[in-house]
Amino acid sequence: MSSYNWKHYLNPFTNLKTIEREGPLVITRGKGVYVYDKDGKEYIEGLSGLWCVSLGFGEKRLIEAARRQLSELPYYHSFGGKAPAVSLELAERLIQIAPKPLTRAIFANSGSESNDTAVKVAWYYNNTLGRRQKKKIISRHFGYHGVTIISGSMTGMAYAQEGFDLPLPVVIHTDCPHHYRYGKPGESEDAFADRMAANLEQLILTEGPDTIAAFIAEPVQGAGGVIVPPTGYFERVQNILRKHDILMIADEVICGFGRTGSMFGSQTFNIVPDIMTVAKQLSSGYQPISALLISDPVYQVIRDQSNTLGMFGHGYTYSGHPVPAAVALETLRIYDEWDIVSRVREIGPILQQRLKEFEDHPLVGQVRGLGLIAAIELTRDKTTKEAFDPREKVGAYLALQAEKNGLIIRALPGDCIAFCPPLIITEQEIDKLIERFGLALDDTAKAFNIM
Ligand code: PLP
Repeated sequence: MSSYNWKHYLNPFTNLKTIEREGPLVITRGKGVYVYDKDGKEYIEGLSGLWCVSLGFGEKRLIEAARRQLSELPYYHSFGGKAPAVSLELAERLIQIAPKPLTRAIFANSGSESNDTAVKVAWYYNNTLGRRQKKKIISRHFGYHGVTIISGSMTGMAYAQEGFDLPLPVVIHTDCPHHYRYGKPGESEDAFADRMAANLEQLILTEGPDTIAAFIAEPVQGAGGVIVPPTGYFERVQNILRKHDILMIADEVICGFGRTGSMFGSQTFNIVPDIMTVAKQLSSGYQPISALLISDPVYQVIRDQSNTLGMFGHGYTYSGHPVPAAVALETLRIYDEWDIVSRVREIGPILQQRLKEFEDHPLVGQVRGLGLIAAIELTRDKTTKEAFDPREKVGAYLALQAEKNGLIIRALPGDCIAFCPPLIITEQEIDKLIERFGLALDDTAKAFNIM
């Protein structure tokens, strides 16, 4: 057995004191929906890593695409009017499948970076139009947009901000459209959506519409608890944004590429983005790559400004890197050939229905989701919806029990347990996932005396 030393490794999103003592779970290989630790123990990857490994582990076509590109052109950049051929091809393909108004793509390496770029584009756009005050960004409580300085400000979770002097004052937060948790007693989903929209408009009016540049939202809030908005929520929101000339940024970093049962979450929820960010499933997580897609009207403005200033002064050494681009292009080809969206529409309801079987469990407050993304929200009392004290760490305990039973899932804020398996998962693998989760749920109920 190999031995691993973690003395010099700093784990992101981890209690550094605990991990010093306990060490990480060391994963050494993966195959299909499974990963294996250093002792050979098998786990179903119920979260596709970090919501990204859509095609599962070990997809030979992606490995071959990287190998081919590495030997042909391992690096080239896109500064000063140059471009790797494969990155041009990827941009073209992305725009073919993206929602209509989007016509240009600029690449980056992570979701955080593309969201950063989205804000810079919104500022550049408003500066060009002479709207120098129109700079604030509205995001939502429990939204997750990454951790760079501006995307960490937009993320509506304390852990991304406490101790980091965030959020920056240019970012303000509005309601999280989670009807189960924030709906008033007797309030219908429709009335709740009306209230969310009215609160957003009030915030815009209080701040001054001429100070708000953009609104950013994930179609389904992933890391904040897999929160599915009520029907009609985004239509109401977009009407308000249009009225006040505020850009809509759709953060499709999790929802993009079939996850919600359409190619993009924007299509599932009738969002018409001015700007859209994608990452993760863009390359099935095999290579770091993200993209920002821009609508034509926004592009026209920033193009003219770049002409005035001499250049569009943004981009990274690795923007449009040919190796991730080649892997992403092959990923998109596979999605097309395998008709991944239809696959999610067939297999997704099976996962959702199997998870619904836990609705009567004493620990389960709500089961929710769509496509191949879902959450189970744990409650101390399912009739009153009383939540656990976060210090009890019930969700984290459950995730650990699942791990012991060979299933990796994720505990999110509010003791929401997230499921986001690879899009290639089969019905038999869903059966196994459900069985392993059921054992962990029962173990947790016993440990916390919820019967
Ligand atoms: N946006 C969303 C919706 C995400 O879920 C994430 C990461 O989970 C990000 C942005 C940030 O992506 P990255 O971790 O690649 O910076």
